[in-house]
Amino acid sequence: MSILLMPRAEEFAARTAIIAPEGEFSYRQLLDASARVASFLLNGAPDLQERPVAFIAPPGFQYVALQWGIWRAGGIAVPLSLFHPRPELEYVLDDTTPAVVLAHADFADRVEPLAAARGLRFGLADAALKHPAGPLPAVAPERQAMILYTSGTTGKPKGVVSTHANIAAQITSLVEAWGWRRDDRILEVLPLHHIHGIVNVISCALWSGAVCEILSRFDAQEVWARLASGELTLFMAVPTIYVKLIDAWEKAAPAERERMSAGCRRLRLMVSGSAALPVPILEKWREISGHVLLERYGMTEIGMALSNSLQGQRYPGCVGQPLPGVEARLMDQGCPVPPGTPGEIEIRGPAVFREYWGKPEETRKSFRDGWFLTGDVAMEENGIYRILGRSSVDIIKTGGYKVSALEIEEVLLTHPGINEVAVVGVADPVWGERVVAALVPKNGASLDTKSLRAWGKERLATYKVPQEAVILKELPRNAMGKVSKPDLKKMIQAAQG
Ligand code: AMP
Repeated sequence: MSILLMPRAEEFAARTAIIAPEGEFSYRQLLDASARVASFLLNGAPDLQERPVAFIAPPGFQYVALQWGIWRAGGIAVPLSLFHPRPELEYVLDDTTPAVVLAHADFADRVEPLAAARGLRFGLADAALKHPAGPLPAVAPERQAMILYTSGTTGKPKGVVSTHANIAAQITSLVEAWGWRRDDRILEVLPLHHIHGIVNVISCALWSGAVCEILSRFDAQEVWARLASGELTLFMAVPTIYVKLIDAWEKAAPAERERMSAGCRRLRLMVSGSAALPVPILEKWREISGHVLLERYGMTEIGMALSNSLQGQRYPGCVGQPLPGVEARLMDQGCPVPPGTPGEIEIRGPAVFREYWGKPEETRKSFRDGWFLTGDVAMEENGIYRILGRSSVDIIKTGGYKVSALEIEEVLLTHPGINEVAVVGVADPVWGERVVAALVPKNGASLDTKSLRAWGKERLATYKVPQEAVILKELPRNAMGKVSKPDLKKMIQAAQG
C-alpha cells in the first residue's frame, strides 16, 4: 500500500531520503513534513474520505511532502503538470473538483485564481508545511490514492484512478525485479505528473530506504555531472533523454567523454521506457556507457507490465517478459494468438488501476473478463515480447498488409543522414493508408528522398518502405516529449491540401 510507504519510512528514519534543490532531507524529516501537510488539509476533520486534492510543485522535497501529506490525510493525490497551459489545468480542476488546491509558491499565481473562480479551497505549500501536526486517519489499502491524467494524444485526457494497493503492487513488482536495495541512489529527472517518475523512480526509492536525488528539471549537462560523479547506482529515463545525453556526450572533449563514460560504468542499472527504444540508440548508449539499457513496457493504467531481465540476457528491440505479479496475454478477435503473431496486449493483476475518474463507460470498455485492453500490439516468441505499436496509430494497414511504424522507424534511424523520424499511415485512395515518413535530418545533412527509397528497399519489404518522405526541422511532440502522430498526420494532410 502506498500508505505503507510511511511505516517503512519509520524504519529508515535516520537515513537520507531526498537530495533536492531545497537541500538534503532524512526519512524522519519527510514523515514530519507530510504529517504537517496532512493536518493542514484535514483542517480539523478526521479524514479526507477520498476527496481529490490537486497539487502543483516543481520536482523536489516539497512535491513529495505534499503527495505523502495528501495520502496520510486520506485524500486522492492529483498532481498537476507544470507544463500544462491554463485550459488543461482548468480541465483537471473541473473534472476532479478537489477539496483543496495546493501550490508551491512559484506556482501560486498560476493556480490560485483558478481555485478562487471555482470556490475551491487554496493552500500554499509553505503554509501547509508549517501547520502543527495532529491526529491522522487510518487509510485502508483499497482506498483511492492517485489520479493521473493519461498523456493520450487523442481525445480529452482521462483520469486514471489507482488505489494504494495498486500502487503498492506496482512498486513491489519493480523492487523485486530490479533488485532495489537501501544502498541504491537514483537520479530523478522525469516529470512528476506521470507514472514513470512517480512510481518507478521516487516511490520505489522511498519504499527501499534508498536515496532519491531530484533535479528540478532535465538538463543534459547537470545529468552528465551526476552520472560522471560515480555516486549513482540507478538511472531511469525515456528514450528522448538518452538521445539528448548522447548528443551532449558527442559534443564533449575527449578527456571529458572518458570521465563521463567512466562514471556511467559505476551504475548498476540503467532503464529505458515509456516509449520504444530504437536499437541504434541502445547500441550507441552501450558504446558510451557500457550499459545495455534495460527496456521495459508499462502504462499509466497498469504500472509496469513487461521488462527485460536484470541478470539475464536483454533483448534489444524487445521489452522482455511479464514482471512479478503481472499476467499478460496477446489476443486477436477475442482469441489468444500463437507465438510470432501480432496480438493486442491484455493485462491482469493487482497493479491494474481501478477506473477512469467519472467515466464508467470508458472504464467498462477498457476491460474484458477482468483483463485490461492496452491497445498496444505486440508479438511474443520464446516468452519475450516485442512491441509492434499501438493498434490505433502505429499499426498501419497498407495494401492489406499490417505493418509496424516502429519497425520502419528503427530501420530509417540507421541511415547516416537521419536524426529523428516518425512514420504514420496517411489515408490513401489506393492503399487504404500509405506509409509516410517525417524526417529530421542530422545537422548539415541533405536528404534525397528518391535515393532514400532505394536505400529503404534494400532493408525492408517494399510495402514497408515509405512511399513519401517529408523533411521537417522538428517533430511535433506532446508535453511528455512523445511524438504526437495525430498532429503529424494533420500537418502532412494539411500540407497536401
Ligand atoms: P503512458 O501511459 O503515458 O505511460 O503511455 C503508455 C504507452 O506508452 C503504452 O501504452 C505504449 O503504447 C507506450 N510504451 C510504453 N513503454 C513502451 C516501450 N518500451 N516500447 C514501446 N511503447 C511503449
